[in-house]
Amino acid sequence: MRSKTKQKMAKKEAKKLEYFTDWKYAPSPEATDHIRLQKQYELFINGKFVKPNSGKYFDTINPATEEKISSIAEANDKDVDTAVKAARGAYDKTWSKMPAKERAKYIYRIARLIQERARELSVIETMDGGKSIRESRDIDVPLAANHFFYYAGWADKLEYAFPNRHPKSLGVAGQVIPWNFPLLMAAWKIAPALATGNTVVLKPAETTSLTALKLAEIIQESGLPDGVVNIITGHGPVGASMVNHKDINKIAFTGSTNVGKWIQKAIAGTDKKLTLELGGKAANIIFEDAPINQAVEGIVNGIFFNQGHVCCAGSRLFVQESVADEVIRKLKDRLETLIVGDPLDKNTDIGAINSKMQLNKINEYLKIGVNDGAEMYQSSCSIPKKGFFVRPTLFLNTSQSHRISQEEIFGPVLAVQTFRTIEEVIEKANNIPYGLSAGVWTDKGSRIFNMTSKLRAGVVWANTYNKFDPTSPFGGYKESGFGREGGLHGLMPYLKF
Ligand code: NAP
Ligand code: MG
Repeated sequence: MRSKTKQKMAKKEAKKLEYFTDWKYAPSPEATDHIRLQKQYELFINGKFVKPNSGKYFDTINPATEEKISSIAEANDKDVDTAVKAARGAYDKTWSKMPAKERAKYIYRIARLIQERARELSVIETMDGGKSIRESRDIDVPLAANHFFYYAGWADKLEYAFPNRHPKSLGVAGQVIPWNFPLLMAAWKIAPALATGNTVVLKPAETTSLTALKLAEIIQESGLPDGVVNIITGHGPVGASMVNHKDINKIAFTGSTNVGKWIQKAIAGTDKKLTLELGGKAANIIFEDAPINQAVEGIVNGIFFNQGHVCCAGSRLFVQESVADEVIRKLKDRLETLIVGDPLDKNTDIGAINSKMQLNKINEYLKIGVNDGAEMYQSSCSIPKKGFFVRPTLFLNTSQSHRISQEEIFGPVLAVQTFRTIEEVIEKANNIPYGLSAGVWTDKGSRIFNMTSKLRAGVVWANTYNKFDPTSPFGGYKESGFGREGGLHGLMPYLKF
């Protein structure tokens, strides 16, 4: 009798879902006619846009259409040196001498200009990088402005932040950022550096230079003294040249663990300060007493939105055995409702993969997962013929030894395992080279505290996932790097005491 009622309810739920999945949203593309993009972008050095010494340019494309957007200047060692000299000059002559409250005014101004140009910035972010407009409009751009607002507030309060320790700036900071949150990562790097009185040379990733160059325009418009922030574009060797430059005092790097390890070796024995924000393979842990529907939304938010291009993505799911069937059923149902496609459409949940190279990497991992014996489940949605897209994917029946459970894929791919006891899940969650983030879903407060103290992860979210705020520090353990960005902790890497 009871199973009959259950069957009836399941049928009803399936019908409801059919209704929702059959019901298509009308296209709702964000307008692009307010965007001003140049055919060619130069390097931003000493307050001006200048041609690269190499005379070379590379294309930036829209990964959703594979069409070229602009040509971007390719810096070389000479340009790096010119930018570092500009930053040093600005540090010596202006920025280090300016009263902190004056410095703060510029940082506030940059924050306000980002807000004013928020629509333009979010559309460009989406066109250049492939992420959904919802993500760039509601997360990347507002958070970038908030970082500048937040750190502007600290500029003249450093003595209060670190009482009796007399904090001093370091000099020139060399900053290298990845393609997954281009404008936001630039804000995470530039805002605390300026607030603490340092000057900057920043290199964005080659596939997503445009919003950094738009930020250069904003910086110019803000009247920030020339040379305080320099933005130079190019490929990996430009970053390497910054790392090796003798007149840089601090390197701040966000990117892959491999490059992070190389940087650590390259600056060993020098007096450069270093922070590394590297890869991750976060465990999202669902206990049987968790609010299941909420947790399923959290799982989806944790790995499928932003195409899984998030270093702290909840890419490993651990479900307590007693609720595993329910969670997996609901997750599969939810996957069917996710909209994959035009990143500029406001209904899109999963936009384009950032580059052909990244798409190939994800597809390679899908093959590895299947060959290793895991059960692959993909949404039945269609994906656009042009552009770089992938269906949201679950891997069931995975084990700790599977490569898809150990290695960072950086795509909308979730490896699912089940567990019985707290001890078992803590051991499995920690048994990984990374330690950036984790999620815990349970109704029990004491269990949350127990888990947060035992999980080796820099950030642990409880009953939520992927929540960011400029006031809270972010960073990892183990091969996820060291040093913190955000909050009061984020000031320290830019100061000496
Ligand atoms: P990546 O290949 O390491 O690139 C990151 C940046 O470093 C890019 O600007 C890249 O330039 C540059 N670069 C490449 N080789 C370099 C070298 N030898 N020296 C100095 N710079 C060099 O990483 P990605 O694939 O772009 O980004 C994804 C990775 O970033 C993932 O592993 C992800 O987990 C990590 N990530 C971590 C965080 C965090 O906060 N922990 C946040 C976001 C992303 P080009 O790309 O232009 O060649
Ligand atoms: Mg691009």
